[in-house]
Amino acid sequence: MNKPIVAIVGRPNVGKSTLFNALAGQMISIVKDTPGVTRDRIYADIDWLNHQFTLIDTGGIEPDSSDIILSQMREQAQIAIDTADVIIFMTDVKQGLIDADAKVADMLRRSRKPVILVVNKVDNYNKMMADVFEFYNLGIGEPIAISAAQRSGLGDMLDKVTEHFASLKLEAEDDDRPRIAIVGKPNVGKSSIINKLTGESRVIVSNIAGTTRDAIDTDVKWNGREYVFIDTAGLRRKSKVKEEIEKYSIIRTVTAVERADVVVIVIDAIEGVTEQDAKIAGIAHENGKGVIIAVNKWDAIEKNDKTVYEYSNKVRQILSFMPYAEIMFISALTGQRLYKLFDMIDFVIENHSMRVETGILNEIMAEAVAMQQPPSDKGKRLKLFYITQVAVKPPTFVIFVNDKELMHFSYTRYIENKIREAFGFKGTPLRFIIRERK
Ligand code: GDP
Ligand code: GDP
Repeated sequence: MNKPIVAIVGRPNVGKSTLFNALAGQMISIVKDTPGVTRDRIYADIDWLNHQFTLIDTGGIEPDSSDIILSQMREQAQIAIDTADVIIFMTDVKQGLIDADAKVADMLRRSRKPVILVVNKVDNYNKMMADVFEFYNLGIGEPIAISAAQRSGLGDMLDKVTEHFASLKLEAEDDDRPRIAIVGKPNVGKSSIINKLTGESRVIVSNIAGTTRDAIDTDVKWNGREYVFIDTAGLRRKSKVKEEIEKYSIIRTVTAVERADVVVIVIDAIEGVTEQDAKIAGIAHENGKGVIIAVNKWDAIEKNDKTVYEYSNKVRQILSFMPYAEIMFISALTGQRLYKLFDMIDFVIENHSMRVETGILNEIMAEAVAMQQPPSDKGKRLKLFYITQVAVKPPTFVIFVNDKELMHFSYTRYIENKIREAFGFKGTPLRFIIRERK
């Protein structure tokens, strides 16, 4: 479940986005109704010969003068070092080896993270080989020649990347403690929540350094149960550029969500729900994690008897792609309802890993079909033969039908709603795979 994280680092214009798009390309799952998430995409789930990993492009904001380039690259490299399991360091054969490359290479070498040195724009390997060898001088190993634009050399590069996966100490498989990521924009109260929970439960076990990434996990015991909180708040990058701060917060979110079972999306009650909240929520949704929406700073809101109702509607409206999410109104400052979070986490985990028997599922599907006729097209009507649950976390169902084309999104949604009516599955997304059986 726990996927490795691979980050691309390199100067502006070496071809990072081109490589990212070449690898992610069609594999980016476009979730139509997740606003903001598919725009400015900087992370993607990649499948390569049975290896799954999350790719992050740390590049982005283009600095406009050369002295900024180096500091920007250091920043990028540090993010990669903090968050990634393997780093792709990209250089450009056309620009050749430059001083900034050497400085960043030093930084990466000292981090002791696996680094794959890639030389891009080698559009003609035979002609440019000598130039590629020059990059040995960086002292971080063998340069892999690629052309991102022509998509050549990518297989060899991915082989090198995935070679490192076997030795990664990813999450211990026998560790069945629930892992919870507290995510949200800067200043919504993530640290305050974690501090309050760990401080007042008076049972902090330890601050253990997390796996191969430098994230700090916090163990919390509550009512005799153990939980691991994954910190996304700890690492704060100083930057004056708003887009940059948001970008770092997205990268931190992706890496934390990846490791979590349940994601608590914290929203600032004073500010209200924003587009950036929707982006962050979209990451949890796309990763199929259990979700709790925590509206924090509830103490600071003037309330009447309609406030909760109105606020919930607003949240539901903006986060319309996750109607299954539970909403809580909390205050890290006063502690109001904060400890109910543990009950909610237990509840969501239960639903996230719930299995329903095939027989019962088919009864529900048959009833649903009888109540609302499946769609038809050009005289051919959709037939639903059989449904079965094939996975948990998130619950995943396969429906066998006569013709995939006829299974409209809206009819799948209808079946989903019927399943939810029967079993709840609150707090967890559900996935549906449609297969044809002739
Ligand atoms: P980034 O700033 O590192 O993300 O770089 P981009 O991906 O935006 O690429 C910068 C420029 O290099 C663009 O004009 C690309 O078309 C070009 N480029 C990228 N990869 C290659 C390549 O393999 N060969 C050549 N000749 N040009 C490339
Ligand atoms: P983070 O960046 O998401 O980790 O946010 P912090 O935990 O650092 O909190 C940002 C600011 O919001 C701080 O000034 C906190 O004191 C304040 N804050 C956090 N939780 C609450 C709350 O429940 N109520 C109020 N009124 N302020 C809060």
